[in-house]
Amino acid sequence: MTNPSLLILPGDGIGPEVMAEVRKVIDWFGAKRDLTIDVQEGLVGGASYDAHGTPLTDETMELAQSVDAVLLGAVGGPKYDNLDFSVKPERGLLRLRKEMDLYSNLRPAQCFDALADFSSLKKDVVAGLDIMIVRELTSGIYFGEPRGIIEEGNERVGINTQRYTESEIARVARSAFELARKRGNKVCSMEKANVMESGILWRDVVTEVHQAEYPDVELSHMYADAGAMQLCRWPKQFDVIVTDNLFGDLLSDAAAMLTGSLGMLPSASLGAPMANGRPKAMYEPVHGSAPDIAGQGKANPIACILSFAMALRYSYDQGAEADRLEAAIETVLAQGARTGDLLGPEGGTPISTSEMGDAIIGALDASL
Ligand code: NAD
Repeated sequence: MTNPSLLILPGDGIGPEVMAEVRKVIDWFGAKRDLTIDVQEGLVGGASYDAHGTPLTDETMELAQSVDAVLLGAVGGPKYDNLDFSVKPERGLLRLRKEMDLYSNLRPAQCFDALADFSSLKKDVVAGLDIMIVRELTSGIYFGEPRGIIEEGNERVGINTQRYTESEIARVARSAFELARKRGNKVCSMEKANVMESGILWRDVVTEVHQAEYPDVELSHMYADAGAMQLCRWPKQFDVIVTDNLFGDLLSDAAAMLTGSLGMLPSASLGAPMANGRPKAMYEPVHGSAPDIAGQGKANPIACILSFAMALRYSYDQGAEADRLEAAIETVLAQGARTGDLLGPEGGTPISTSEMGDAIIGALDASL
């Protein structure tokens, strides 16, 4: 059997620093769990622009299409702010998402007990929280036509169009149901079927896919505005939430902040199933390249390590090893390990990026 493959694209700013800690984790799984992943590394964003004059070369794009999963650090930074739009670092990221057709964006909101005080909500509302927002990423109002600003009479009119085909809704719904089967087996679909035809179609298609293919998964529906309220009131009622591009943008940001620091948030973008039955996939921390702390050993590597945990679960079918890695992170946090971003108002002594990586490796060792 061939080993699973991974393309690592560290990118810019703190990207390479946090990725170095993921490398330690990957090596640990190879050495201690007999889980060898064939890793290749490439350039993206400003790093690729500096070397090749483009934020993503065709060769790296081809490589990304050929591997089981891509793990990206972060792109961008002030050095590249004045570049032409066509070669800005973000274009590399957008090209990967577009050409791999990654239509399903997964944003978990997971609250580690040791950080529950960080949330703006009461501790008992968020402690132990583990929900997943699945956002449709390649269609909807951000892409629909007609769009633009036109003149009408003597004033301007701004136009955007919410447009979804049945197949676009069905494929993201399948993605949510598949995920639910690997988690708490519950999906809540959110739209505004009370005021939008696209919402009526969304609800119909999600229901049809559920009845035909996933009757074993519990499905509920909620209007997205009520969903936003419920997310703040009692988020633990949810397991997987599936929603469109616009509502998902808002709901996933709100849900993420239930859990505290940007340095803790992973994400995945999934596409159609490949020949091996697993989805095309790119994993990345939610945070950016953090130029204010880059090169200083201050970055929290946990968001990127948790992104790798998602790859273990969703691309390599190694759910138990993903659980092991998440438990190791929970352990080091419970023991009080904190990078600077995790220190509360009372302060404390931060540890460095590599010390956090080493602590997680120590907890992995202790898990054996
Ligand atoms: P940012 O996420 O880079 O940083 C926001 C704040 O959070 C900063 O104070 C930073 O120090 C802190 N922070 C972020 N990640 C952290 C970590 N792992 N550990 C500790 N602290 C962390 O967002 P920004 O400042 O708005 O953007 C900086 C650059 O990153 C810009 O060029 C932007 O375009 C780019 N960006 C890239 C991505 C991506 O690659 N996916 C996402 C967002 C922003």
